Amino acid sequence: AKADGRKRERFFTGEMEAQMQLRHALEADLRAAVENEEFHLHYQPLYDLAERRICGFEALIRWNHPVRGRVPPMDFIPLAEEVGLIVDIGRWVLRRACRDAAQWPENIKVAVNVSAIQFSGSDLTQDVSEALAAAGLSPSRLELEITESVLMENLNEVLPILHALKDRGIHVSMDDFGTGYSSLSYLSSFPFDKIKIDKSFVNDIVDNKEAYAIMRAIILLGDALGMRVTVEGVETAAQLALLECEECDEIQGYHISPPRPVRDVPHLLCLPPKS
Ligand code: C2E
Ligand code: CA
Ligand code: CA
Ligand code: CA
Repeated sequence: AKADGRKRERFFTGEMEAQMQLRHALEADLRAAVENEEFHLHYQPLYDLAERRICGFEALIRWNHPVRGRVPPMDFIPLAEEVGLIVDIGRWVLRRACRDAAQWPENIKVAVNVSAIQFSGSDLTQDVSEALAAAGLSPSRLELEITESVLMENLNEVLPILHALKDRGIHVSMDDFGTGYSSLSYLSSFPFDKIKIDKSFVNDIVDNKEAYAIMRAIILLGDALGMRVTVEGVETAAQLALLECEECDEIQGYHISPPRPVRDVPHLLCLPPKS
């Protein structure tokens, strides 16, 4: 049994070492990627249900690794956060997204994801101001999406920054709403302009009465608190039909369009209304 234990230990150590090496390689590549500008942005439409038109786009980062090919954000954003690279990456995303949006019609907004680290590891308000100024974009056309985990890190540090951004006319959305364990308490801590209901809530609304009831209740809650409500991850016409109510303002998902390269934005803006 003792020999067995040692064997197991060696096995795990080997596996862990391999993982560590992979991480180190990825981290080195990530640093190079920042310098070599291997990132680009894709844009996914936000669709206004009342106006039956696209009212904005969410910027989503893409990394085209020279050897590995496309690396999904979920495979490198957490690492970039851990090693602090997210500050440079986030700054780049802000600048690029504002510059792109400045080319779009005035009634089209751009939404940018902001990581917790950007609140503590950098001067976010200044980065945002610089990105807007460099692009000549009005602050009212920028939305920042933050997740509950951002708030959780430390409310005291984050709240003044959120208020400063809001004072400048920038809109703030709570992303992935419903996935954290204390979503509800955050709603009263800060006046969000919008909540984005996580895509996990939409999956079963067509086949499952309870899932639909929960979705309805969250939509009504957001509406009652005076926030715009977006439902993420809408993939079918049947889901869209169920969400067409006065209180649901926007949807986002493959049913409207998957994220697309920036050059496709003009084409997406010409698509006929969806149902
Ligand atoms: P998110 O902010 O919740 O973004 C929405 C994700 O859902 C995107 O994944 C999008 O491609 C995917 N999605 C959109 N519609 C549908 C649908 O109908 N069905 C399904 N199953 N998925 C859909 P993506 O692009 O892989 O991004 C994953 C996450 O990575 C984002 O989740 C966000 O948390 C993070 N991320 C992406 N870009 C950035 C960035 O520039 N900065 C930061 N800090 N995080 C980013
Ligand atoms: Ca988002
Ligand atoms: Ca989300
Ligand atoms: Ca509303």
